[in-house]
Amino acid sequence: MATPIRYSIFPSNPEAHLFEVRCTVADLDPAGQKFALPTWIPGSYLIREFARNVVRIRAQSGRKMLRIVKLDKNTWQVEPTDGPVTVTMEVYAWDLSVRGAHLDTTHAFFNGPSVFLKVEGREDEPCEVEILPPKGARYRNWRIASAMRRKGARPYGFGTYEAADYDELIDHPVEIGTFTLATFKAAGVQHDIAITGRHRADMDRLCRDLKVLCETQIRFFGEPAPMDRYVFLVTAVGEGYGGLEHRASTALLCSRDELPRKGVQEVTNGYRTFLGLCSHEYFHTWNVKRIKPAVFTPYDLDRENYTTLLWAFEGITSYYDDLFLVRSGLITRDAYLESVAKSITSVLRGSGRRKQTVAESSFDAWIKYYRQDENAPNAAVSYYVKGSLVALCLDLLIRQQTNGRRSLDHVMRALWKRHGLKGVGVEENGVERLADEVTGLKLKRFFDQALRGTGDLPLQKLLADVGIEMKIRRAESPADKGGKRASKPEKVLAQRVDLGIRTADGSGDLRITHVLDGGAAQRAGLAAGDTIVALDELRVTPKNFEARLGNYRPGDTVQVHAFRRDELLVLNLTLAAPPADTCALTVNDDRSAANLRRRWLSTS
Ligand SMILES: [Zn+2]
Repeated sequence: MATPIRYSIFPSNPEAHLFEVRCTVADLDPAGQKFALPTWIPGSYLIREFARNVVRIRAQSGRKMLRIVKLDKNTWQVEPTDGPVTVTMEVYAWDLSVRGAHLDTTHAFFNGPSVFLKVEGREDEPCEVEILPPKGARYRNWRIASAMRRKGARPYGFGTYEAADYDELIDHPVEIGTFTLATFKAAGVQHDIAITGRHRADMDRLCRDLKVLCETQIRFFGEPAPMDRYVFLVTAVGEGYGGLEHRASTALLCSRDELPRKGVQEVTNGYRTFLGLCSHEYFHTWNVKRIKPAVFTPYDLDRENYTTLLWAFEGITSYYDDLFLVRSGLITRDAYLESVAKSITSVLRGSGRRKQTVAESSFDAWIKYYRQDENAPNAAVSYYVKGSLVALCLDLLIRQQTNGRRSLDHVMRALWKRHGLKGVGVEENGVERLADEVTGLKLKRFFDQALRGTGDLPLQKLLADVGIEMKIRRAESPADKGGKRASKPEKVLAQRVDLGIRTADGSGDLRITHVLDGGAAQRAGLAAGDTIVALDELRVTPKNFEARLGNYRPGDTVQVHAFRRDELLVLNLTLAAPPADTCALTVNDDRSAANLRRRWLSTS
């Protein structure tokens, strides 16, 4: 077997957020070995240019310093030499997200693409990493959480770890510090939860709930689980949300208030959000980490990898994340329907759904979804949210057309057997082809409309087949995200007024973040970034804005004072009623539909 490529990583200066990372390799390219850092991290479709955090780089062979030249933004070349070469980088790590690297005196976290150089042409060779502790007594209790395979290091200890190739090396994020640790077994596989950040989570409850969730998913795809261990790496902060999937772990960022407290039995909204995130990333263990678009096998880490399939890899995953919460018994049927109704509301509220298809949204993730600006609701649709509704429709359509004999579950298991288990990428039309094959249906018309069309999805009809009534109404207030029936009759809601804007609190001022197409604000000429300071010469703040608007009725004209940059604008705005864009779902008592519905919401 070839000598592995050797890496070491050392938190050399936590106070200055610097890692020292080395890469040692023998048998070099005689023309001068090239090294590169990825420009993006799989799972997060944006060019992030990790090389911009490289502060210093040097190369040497034994004691001899070698010339190292930068060829482009993320590639270096070392002058030709006979002996093994060590490239040493100083990497700045101050990105507290699930995608980068972060280091201070309280902890260290890194993703491989931020710190490990790719040895060009040698990506398939085995790798070893020595993870070293920072120097100083204050770090003596630090330990390691990662799904990377140990080679000599003790459990949770510093020392040597290994990976079969570069792709695996960069797919095991590492948390180092004094995290809380809890362990449980799911279908015989060890699962760890490591929580960094101050928190008072009920770890026993987390283990209990995640065990049920993980086992439900493992059994869905079939035992044995595809990984021999799994780690939830959680960073708890004041406010934050995010997750990134990996083959045997996930990095999560959550608000500490979302974690379950001791003595509280109910599933709060926050905890539901956290469980949904865990469920989402865990489902990716199969869908996108092993069942992958063909264009990701292998990933091209130097540039964008375009696929129209993110509706399937993110949308279907978003569909199943909450569905598995109800199938695991962690949330009730009604709580599940509430979350579906919120997703429907969220799609209805963007006129971008009329302009961009989910296939286009997926393809353009790199420049649109991950780089949303103030015009996003008017120009784009989310392949996550609309994608989850496409998956819902597809599932219900298959169930209805096959009298419950087939479902999206069968399609997912076929994708797993044909692609995931075999390591064969999914071609751009592969999901559609397999869906036809597994169900015996001709689904082309549905897919053309749902994936390549901008019309609304046939949700109302398909939900009716499982005894669920979909009602669309006007919003009760800006805080109304849908999901519940209105507390007031529709004719009262039709008397409210709506400016067609989204706002934020800009240090006590009412700042417009988005101006929605066709709304009163757009017609009057208000723009994103404007600060509304008065309505009819009375001061407006984020706190009193709704109450002030309560004095008006649709059709009334109001004088608006607003600042655009430092220039005062005075505009007359004709108020309108809010659009009907808010969804609620309720279960009716149709007996025959109840059977179909129960089978849909329980594991099949
Ligand atoms: Zn995802």
